[in-house]
Amino acid sequence: MFKRTVFITITAALAMIVASCNTAAPAQMEEKIGVAVTILPQQEFVVRVGGDKVDVTVMVPPGASPHTYEVTPAQMVQLSKAMVYCKVGSPIEFELAWLDKLLAQNKDILVVDCSKGIDLIQSDDPDEPGMDPHIWTSPRNAKIMVQNICAGLSQADPQNRQYYENNRDLYLKNLDELDVEMGALLNGAGAQTFIVYHPAWGYFARDYGLQQLGIEQEGKEPKAAYMSRLINEARLQNIKVVFISPEFDSRNAEAIAREIGGRVVIIDPLAGDYLQNMREVAAAFKEALN
Ligand SMILES: [Zn+2]
Repeated sequence: MFKRTVFITITAALAMIVASCNTAAPAQMEEKIGVAVTILPQQEFVVRVGGDKVDVTVMVPPGASPHTYEVTPAQMVQLSKAMVYCKVGSPIEFELAWLDKLLAQNKDILVVDCSKGIDLIQSDDPDEPGMDPHIWTSPRNAKIMVQNICAGLSQADPQNRQYYENNRDLYLKNLDELDVEMGALLNGAGAQTFIVYHPAWGYFARDYGLQQLGIEQEGKEPKAAYMSRLINEARLQNIKVVFISPEFDSRNAEAIAREIGGRVVIIDPLAGDYLQNMREVAAAFKEALN
């Protein structure tokens, strides 16, 4: 996990250096399309469709949360050079707070809504009614996001439309394979319930017949009464694993795990290497639900 984060950081840093060199690149080098995205999983989607025609900038860096991250002045400047912004498009705080300000820096930017055509579901947090923003944790939703990205790149750069569509089709095949694999791994688990600190897995749970119980309340640490309700529920359902995202404090999750004689397992909804990460997530679920 640590190694991967470092790798992503280096990759992102290299991408930035490449992007900044490009502006002064000699004329014989083909100009790449600057594409900004909100979160790391979208970076893989854009890179797989855009190939060597795009330079991708991720606004929310590794380890940061799209619910709380604040843009830096350097990112504002960088965004002024981008041609396309691929927003997640679900109601995610980073975009609600910053997108208008970011787009004001660059009025010609083409905005692609990755959530277009995706059915949003209610958030699992009963104390925070609203739509669940974590659309990308379902590979079926990822397919729609990739199609929206392809349409956007083709609009920004119609000359290379065929190239983008070929890449899109290859990646959609990968996502189909992932979906089949995950279905085979998780189906038969029955309508099983899992506990997770930050409830980012609602779409994943919906698609594979699972039930998500979040520990957070209104995006904050849970109250004691809610913690004991969760512990009772976990004992009742014989739950032995408490999932947590790497960027969150694990104390509450560990407290619950101790009470139920279980353990804490880290799964990352924001990892950059999407296909590989989702396979690891599915394997972690499979083990936890057995
Ligand atoms: Zn989240």
